[in-house]
Amino acid sequence: MSTEHPRIAREKKTIDVMVHIYCHGHHGTKGDELCSECTEFLSYAFMRLDKCPFQEEKSACGKCLVHCYQPQMREKAKEIMRYSGPRMLLVSPGLALHHLFDGRKKPQTLKEFKEKKAKESA
Ligand SMILES: [Zn+2]
Repeated sequence: MSTEHPRIAREKKTIDVMVHIYCHGHHGTKGDELCSECTEFLSYAFMRLDKCPFQEEKSACGKCLVHCYQPQMREKAKEIMRYSGPRMLLVSPGLALHHLFDGRKKPQTLKEFKEKKAKESA
């Protein structure tokens, strides 16, 4: 757990907040509650983040060139982002701004990323 990058930890927090906003709005849950469908989505998203090859350098998932989500999970992610994105600014402005900022990073392909890493360690 302690090996987790702050960047990934923040991304998890952002997704966690977004899924809650979405679930509360669509499925009538409250507070820390999530319906089973959204719980499943959230653990899937966390699992993908743990496996994200970019880790500290990742762009926002919506811009990422490596499409690591299964198609139906991607659809759900898009729906959640569309609904919760604007609402994030009200609920958690700090996280929302970070997310906007991360989204401005140029997404890189896995190949570019690996070449860059190789250069850095050479
Ligand atoms: Zn839900």
